[in-house]
Amino acid sequence: MVQGSANLNTEVTEEWLQEYVDGWVKFFKKQTSDGELANYIPILGEADPEALGISIIGKNGTTIKSGNTEEKFTIQSISKVLTFIVACMERGLTYVLDRVDVEPTGEAFNSIMHLEMKQPNKPFNPMVNSGAITVSSMLDGNSSDQKLETLFILMEKMIGHRPEINVEAYESERDTSMKNRAIGYYLLEGDYLESDLSITLETYFKQSAIEITIDDLARIGLVLSNDGFDPVTEEEIIPRSITRLAKALMLTCGMYDASGKFAAYVGVPAKSGVSGGILAVVPPRVRDEELPFLEGCGIGVYGPALDKQGNSIGGIKLLRHVANHWDLSLF
Ligand code: GLU
Repeated sequence: MVQGSANLNTEVTEEWLQEYVDGWVKFFKKQTSDGELANYIPILGEADPEALGISIIGKNGTTIKSGNTEEKFTIQSISKVLTFIVACMERGLTYVLDRVDVEPTGEAFNSIMHLEMKQPNKPFNPMVNSGAITVSSMLDGNSSDQKLETLFILMEKMIGHRPEINVEAYESERDTSMKNRAIGYYLLEGDYLESDLSITLETYFKQSAIEITIDDLARIGLVLSNDGFDPVTEEEIIPRSITRLAKALMLTCGMYDASGKFAAYVGVPAKSGVSGGILAVVPPRVRDEELPFLEGCGIGVYGPALDKQGNSIGGIKLLRHVANHWDLSLF
């Protein structure tokens, strides 16, 4: 039986929260065996399928972490939130939204079906591969490294250090990802791309291979929870209008074709990646009772064993449990 079903009406202390989270992680770790690694990118097939970790960082600095907390892993699709933000900062919201829509697809992240069958005048949203590759083409610069420079600067402001690309992971995807190349050619044919196809794909594969930890994800989540402002200095890192849109996209499209269920049962903006990471954003909320993280928090999760939709199987269950017990939902 999972620990912690009592009402949270006693005083909230960090030790007490830690104890609960330790118990929950231990419990949901056992369920990772029902998932599978994303071995369509060969290097992701080498991860420890039983790993599960969570980091939660609150606006007031409260930090709770548990399980596999030290692993570095590649950001994969979570980068889509950040490149969307960068493109909007560089080009302006209108420019980007004229070229990528904000509608959920209900299809797999790497589906080409919508582009082919519906022939929209723009890809459906920046959280699926067709939209994200289009966004990568919009980033400023004439090479993949130039295009990603602003992303690195933004990430450094959010997580406190400049992240690195895992070259092996980049090459692993670059050399095997025929479906993304197919999407790329489809986008090229439809005149969606703003830069050369090979540079665009190189940018997309490199951004996917940026190495992070769950603490990094929690810090990114906290900035988004704080409307784009640094939680300590209150300096603006991302304009509020762009942050708002990024969170709306995460809520409606961030968890692959399980986004509706995640919004219903967890109720916070989130984005997952096939390496097993989940970035979750808990905005400040008003409640009558004393509950943890009322001022908002960022959450990072890692659990590389995935469910059928491509979300971390243990991670989703763990997040749902935490959200239910601490009433984290927006709704
Ligand atoms: N780079 C991965 C791909 O395009 C990202 C997928 C994901 O994390 O959803 O297949």
